[in-house]
Amino acid sequence: MADCVFCRIVAGQIPSTWVYEDELTLAFMDIGQVNPGHVLVALKPHAENLYQLDDAQAAAVQRTAARVARAIRDAFQPLGLSVYQANGKAAGQTVFHYHVHLVPRHEGDGMALSWPVKNPPRDELEKHAAKIRERLPRA
Ligand code: AMP
Ligand code: ZN
Repeated sequence: MADCVFCRIVAGQIPSTWVYEDELTLAFMDIGQVNPGHVLVALKPHAENLYQLDDAQAAAVQRTAARVARAIRDAFQPLGLSVYQANGKAAGQTVFHYHVHLVPRHEGDGMALSWPVKNPPRDELEKHAAKIRERLPRA
């Protein structure tokens, strides 16, 4: 979809800080980092939400999420990882292109997830991404 920000990221029309991609999925740093290492796993084809995924797409997103989750764990050694997605406005979805959030959690984080939060400079995102990328197979 021409006006969808994540479609434009997938198409390379908007810069993103890439960590992983395969045929069906793209993982990139969330620009509004809740914690360093917050990654979004997006389906490449446009689908608004979970309800619209076919079985192959659902499996592909979960596989990428698991791979990237392991890389985040090894790179940042967080105490935990929040894995979540918002489906629909009432659930807090703001970008209507299907994606999963991977948020490393540390002592004292609390569970509140709110944004907008500070926008880290690109080089900070790139530094985090590089640590994750080096622990993942290349496409
Ligand atoms: P949600 O509100 O669950 O739909 O999540 C949308 C996420 O996309 C938020 O965490 C935003 O910080 C993130 N986001 C929005 N625009 C961009 C962008 N251009 N690059 C990276 N992340 C983005
Ligand atoms: Zn889209």
